[in-house]
Amino acid sequence: MLSYWEYKSWLQQVDFTIVGSGIVGINCALTLRKKFPKAKIIILERGILPQGASTKNAGFACFGSVSEILDDLKSHSEEEVINLIQNRWTGVQHLRSLLGDEKLKFHSLGGYEVFSEKETDLYEECLKARECINTMLSPIFGQSVFEERSNTFGFQNIKETLLWNQFEGQLDTGEMMRGLLDLALKQDILILNSITVTSFEENASHVSIKTDKFDMESSYLLVATNGFAKEILNEQVQPARAQVLITKPINDLSIKGTFHMYKGFNYFRNVENRILLGGGRHLNMDQEETISFGQSEEIKTYLLSLLKEVILPDTDFEIDQWWSGIMGVGSKKHPIVKPVSARVYCGVRLGGMGVAIGSAVGQELADLIS
Ligand SMILES: Cc1cc2nc3c(=O)[nH]c(=O)nc-3n(C[C@H](O)[C@H](O)[C@H](O)COP(=O)(O)OP(=O)(O)OC[C@H]3O[C@@H](n4cnc5c(N)ncnc54)[C@H](O)[C@@H]3O)c2cc1C
Repeated sequence: MLSYWEYKSWLQQVDFTIVGSGIVGINCALTLRKKFPKAKIIILERGILPQGASTKNAGFACFGSVSEILDDLKSHSEEEVINLIQNRWTGVQHLRSLLGDEKLKFHSLGGYEVFSEKETDLYEECLKARECINTMLSPIFGQSVFEERSNTFGFQNIKETLLWNQFEGQLDTGEMMRGLLDLALKQDILILNSITVTSFEENASHVSIKTDKFDMESSYLLVATNGFAKEILNEQVQPARAQVLITKPINDLSIKGTFHMYKGFNYFRNVENRILLGGGRHLNMDQEETISFGQSEEIKTYLLSLLKEVILPDTDFEIDQWWSGIMGVGSKKHPIVKPVSARVYCGVRLGGMGVAIGSAVGQELADLIS
């Protein structure tokens, strides 16, 4: 039971309560602070650290490979796809200006799309579409985005030509999130960890919030729980688990940059002199539609064989760590940012590119409150 003092100083007269301290939740809080300098702003977070996707991701500062863009064009209009890419691109610039490249450990090493030996149709389709996509994106970048490059990395069992994107970068996910959390603390934003919001109810003057530890009231509630959104909201967001490994340091690693395979389902990069590899969700989409962290033997085996047979065929390596994160996905790629009712708002369903769009989505969520 909380004391009178605890309630009074922490949990009373709260103006804005945000659920979730991922990229979106923190950026939402930072924007609210700018708009309402004297407001009491609280973030309630289930994990001891942010525990969804923002501290688990691969740190690609990307906006889509050729095969992903072609795939998106099948379910979205050209205008929608251009908007998605514009938002991802400006989102990365926004994040860089907020925290700075040094803090983010941002490196502009470029990104590559790699096609496996078996993907002849997709490979040919992408090579053929490359120029059209460059033309489609020229209003955003003013230059050709995707170029053909040969395989100088020693990858095996792949098509010889890789598609290179000079505009793609990589950053340090942990430093990004620490930087955002530090900014929030400096801006007098209270973050309470290990608190799960279980339900809420809106009244004329406030929102009553129930958590697993206490009940409280807030003038407004902003939900930034991404893949976990369905637990407290009725929105079209499916959880999607993504499994990742990182190797121990590898001597003289020549692989530098971010690499996409199989329409973005598989991805790898160097982290200094290690390889981080994620993917395999397409092998068992039903099983991976879960909010439970963990690994599956099927996907572990698949990722290990990708590492051995394609990425590091001639190099000895050891795995240092495995982990997983939970994304929020749906039939459309754009996030859901909207009022749920008069005092409740949400910014969820960030998909696989929340590093790029998360800061802008957080800002947009806060801007729903005038
Ligand atoms: C393995 C992996 C690799 C990825 N790689 C990339 C990449 O390279 N580039 C890229 O752009 N994007 C990538 N993404 C996607 C990106 O990380 C996400 O889109 C982004 O982090 C989403 O941010 P968010 O703030 O919306 O959600 P999250 O970071 O998931 O934050 C939601 C928070 O809400 C909390 N929460 C949930 N429910 C409750 C509740 N009821 N009460 C209290 N707290 C709650 C969770 O604990 C969590 O901390 C990747 C994702 C994963 C999982």
